[in-house]
Amino acid sequence: MDFKISDKIQTIVDMINEFVEKELIPLEPEFLAKDFKDLLPILKEKQDLVRKMELWAPNFPVECGGMGLSLLEHGLVSEALGRSPLGHYVFWCQAPDAGNVEILHLHGTKKQKQRYLTPLVKGDIRSCFAMTEVDMPGSNPVMLETTAVKDGEDYVINGHKWYTTAADGANFAIVMAVTNPDASTYRKASMIIVPTDTKGFNLVRNIPVMGHKGSDYFSHGEILFESCRVPQENLLGPEGQGFVIAQDRLGPGRIHHCMRWLGICRRAFDLLCSRADERLISPSGKTLGSTQTVRNWIAESAAELQAARLLTLNSAWQIDHNGASMARDSISMIKFVVANTMNKIVDRALQAYGGLGMTDDTILAYFYRHERAARIYDGADEVHKASLAKRILKTYHKEQ
Ligand SMILES: Cc1cc2nc3c(=O)[nH]c(=O)nc-3n(C[C@H](O)[C@H](O)[C@H](O)COP(=O)(O)OP(=O)(O)OC[C@H]3O[C@@H](n4cnc5c(N)ncnc54)[C@H](O)[C@@H]3O)c2cc1C
Repeated sequence: MDFKISDKIQTIVDMINEFVEKELIPLEPEFLAKDFKDLLPILKEKQDLVRKMELWAPNFPVECGGMGLSLLEHGLVSEALGRSPLGHYVFWCQAPDAGNVEILHLHGTKKQKQRYLTPLVKGDIRSCFAMTEVDMPGSNPVMLETTAVKDGEDYVINGHKWYTTAADGANFAIVMAVTNPDASTYRKASMIIVPTDTKGFNLVRNIPVMGHKGSDYFSHGEILFESCRVPQENLLGPEGQGFVIAQDRLGPGRIHHCMRWLGICRRAFDLLCSRADERLISPSGKTLGSTQTVRNWIAESAAELQAARLLTLNSAWQIDHNGASMARDSISMIKFVVANTMNKIVDRALQAYGGLGMTDDTILAYFYRHERAARIYDGADEVHKASLAKRILKTYHKEQ
């Protein structure tokens, strides 16, 4: 196993670090104070700079207009971008579009690729992914109730989804719906592409999350599908293969999330250390960093960050070399280990900033609010732990 970074990737990561520092971190006060949609013109300017630097869409396939980086390479890029909440959006590798590009590329028809994939990779349109439902457990999606019933040449979709990230302003949604109710559990559902201007696609609201309703890309929509009619040619992949395709989306997606979270860990860690170094705690000139407690926070955060990072790079390496299904245990591990490491390091940094940490004068309160969700989406901690432990126990089970 070799995590050596090639000169090419090191140059790219250095360029991104510089860009994030010079162009994006200075925008954060505005990002925290304003509605996201008011920032779109300035973000567009930054995106044009990224295109000029030829760093647009780092993880998307070359034939679609991306840079075609491997999972491990993109992991390193994602870590650098994660230092700012604006990083992934400006370089155009943000969730949920990144996952949608992956499945459209793997399973889309020629027509679907022309209509949806090409403009999505170019950044001309955005998309969203609607699986989770208001009334059914997202942790057990086989229970989903949204239906897509064939009628003539069409599917007619009915259902109530929520947490459809970035639905506000998206051009289309990829929707998970039951198409084959009589089939076996994992063959009941399909993925269907639904343009958001279709009659019956109703964006009810942007859900307030941790006190923040958001707008445009930075929002989570509640959507009511009411007799929403789309042509059957909008089926993505074979009918009944929704859960199989969802797996294609989730494996690499978890690496992307974890590497972004590691970028957040690094930013919070840097802030923690600067604060420890500068903040006076006594007239004699003693600083916060002289206390045993804060030194413990720093040492523990450094070790936990390194451990989480190596575990994640190892997972990316396993997926690149052996495929996502062989890396299942490792992918489950990083999902809860990195999410919790990030929450812990952000919390310690916020505590070190005292009252200032609670304000929006640093990025820490935003991370604290926004990134708590990491322990819930893409599989809650408890679900990953339960399935990992089940697989481990199987290897110990003795036939009687
Ligand atoms: C910020 C954010 C963005 C999201 N974006 C999207 C998106 O773009 N598209 C989309 O479709 N969904 C999205 N989601 C939804 C997300 O995938 C679900 O919230 C998640 O799958 C959990 O489902 P649930 O909320 O229905 O919780 P439930 O399934 O009701 O679970 C609630 C809790 O019960 C516990 N639990 C559940 N099952 C088990 C078990 N088997 N063993 C032990 N404990 C268990 C866990 O602690 C879990 O947190 C997003 C969620 C958030 C918070």
